Amino acid sequence: MYDDVRIYGVGGPANAGKGTLLSLLEKAHGGEFVVISVGNRLRKEVKEGTELGLQAKTYMENGKLVPDDIINKVFLKIIDEVIKEGKCHKMILDGYPRSPGQVVEMLKSGVYMERMIEITLPEDVLIKRGSDRVCCVDCGETYTVEDLHKRTKKEGVCDKCGGNVVRRPDDAPEKVKVRLQSYLDDTYPMYDVLRKAGVEVVSIDRSETGDVDRFFEAVDF
Ligand code: ADP
Repeated sequence: MYDDVRIYGVGGPANAGKGTLLSLLEKAHGGEFVVISVGNRLRKEVKEGTELGLQAKTYMENGKLVPDDIINKVFLKIIDEVIKEGKCHKMILDGYPRSPGQVVEMLKSGVYMERMIEITLPEDVLIKRGSDRVCCVDCGETYTVEDLHKRTKKEGVCDKCGGNVVRRPDDAPEKVKVRLQSYLDDTYPMYDVLRKAGVEVVSIDRSETGDVDRFFEAVDF
């Protein structure tokens, strides 16, 4: 069912800069691929107060992973919607899979991943970046408060869609630490599961030069 679609995964701890890399890719190759973000979809469901949103809300606000059974349903729903639209043959999964259980479910559902890319940064930098990040409640675009290079043109207003730009509750420093620990405990073991299933895993450190080029190559652009 997913045979004519090339699927790539992008993961890593919160605040490593996945979003920025995906925006750069969008600028260079927009229209040639689709990004599937389970996190953005969950935030939308929470905002709309759907049953799914209510189930996911507390986990998200506390920086914990939403349980696999909920996530797998959401993932299959989004991927099927995109495939039905039939517009794109290249997909980048942003933040999915995020646990060994999700890898197993993904493979069972017939999704074959070309490559999984892990975006990393040293721990102290991750925590500092968390407190500088703000995010559009409507389209999910991220900006910084202190770092000048990615500020909104008008304070609190998204450059892309005009939505409200605010700090996410899970970007408070103590929550960022919890999310990092959850990444190490709950997510990290999945890379081995992927390797064992024959999926190539590439690690890219955002603090090293050439990181953007390496990312483009890893997703075959
Ligand atoms: P970040 O990459 O900054 O953690 P996301 O937008 O990808 O942000 O995710 C926000 C929150 O949504 C996560 O902290 C988690 O609670 C939930 N979430 C997103 N994707 C998954 C997933 N694959 N498995 C479990 N929970 C998820």
